[in-house]
Amino acid sequence: MSNEIKNVSVIGIGFLGRLITERTALYNYNVRIYDINSEGLEKLARSLTRKKKRKNLYGEVSFHNTVSEAVADADLIIEAVPEKLELKKEVFSQIDRAAPPHAIIATNSSSIPVSRIEDAVKRKDKLLNIHFYHPTTSPMVDIMRGSETSEDTFKKGKNWIESLELTPLEVKKECLGFVFNRIWRAIKKECLKIWAGGYAEIETVDKAWKIFTGMGVGPFSLMDMVGLDVVYDIEMSYFNESGDPKDKPPQTLKDKVDRGELGRKSGKGFYEY
Ligand code: NAD
Repeated sequence: MSNEIKNVSVIGIGFLGRLITERTALYNYNVRIYDINSEGLEKLARSLTRKKKRKNLYGEVSFHNTVSEAVADADLIIEAVPEKLELKKEVFSQIDRAAPPHAIIATNSSSIPVSRIEDAVKRKDKLLNIHFYHPTTSPMVDIMRGSETSEDTFKKGKNWIESLELTPLEVKKECLGFVFNRIWRAIKKECLKIWAGGYAEIETVDKAWKIFTGMGVGPFSLMDMVGLDVVYDIEMSYFNESGDPKDKPPQTLKDKVDRGELGRKSGKGFYEY
């Protein structure tokens, strides 16, 4: 059994997968990546070229054509595909079949506890939730165990997060939303209600948040950065969990997503870019 994490695979190179790959390579890990689509990979390739020129990338990043190839020599795999339970289960199962037996598999999910994915894999003691934020602006990571995760797996995950100079936020008991994400979710939910109910302009809410916290951006700008499709999927997974109509994201958010207004990535979300 390998004690050290050297090779990290990232599956799903969208907004977060890209940030995770860059951070991991910056701290000298070899990163193997795979995405079903080429769009995210192309963006990442351009960004890596810029970073290499500035000499602030140290580990090797390699692109692969299949999940099996990308995880073949992994010590740790981070799954960052969209927030859909069945998709995550399918990807975990593919990873489990192809990765070396010692490898740890973690999900970057924003709301799904890894225990819900557990039945898709055999190595139930080597699973984690490792939930990143933007590594530069919010250098912290939630870390949570599944129902059979070993202490060795947890320790390795925590050490790895610290090795990236990020602060691990340990969840002691399984809960939806982990540590900080749970707080952010409460803010996000109320902001969406204010907007959908027509109680105040988004600019007013963002201004209030900036004055109160001293931050440079407000919740609506942040949601545009995250992607409104991602925000919608996350809110839906909370709603599916509780069944409480109060947890259902507003229809106006769904309408925006259906119109392709996804935030920064599509040029329009709550704001125009
Ligand atoms: P995204 O939509 O930007 O990226 C998802 C990527 O997964 C896409 O590039 C897509 O092509 C790829 N993909 C889809 N199916 C795949 C498959 N079967 N195999 C491989 N790749 C596949 O989403 P994102 O914002 O990067 O979010 C990814 C995960 O990270 C979600 O679980 C989300 O909840 C979580 N997360 C997101 C944020 C955020 O700020 N956006 C923050 C923390 C965690």
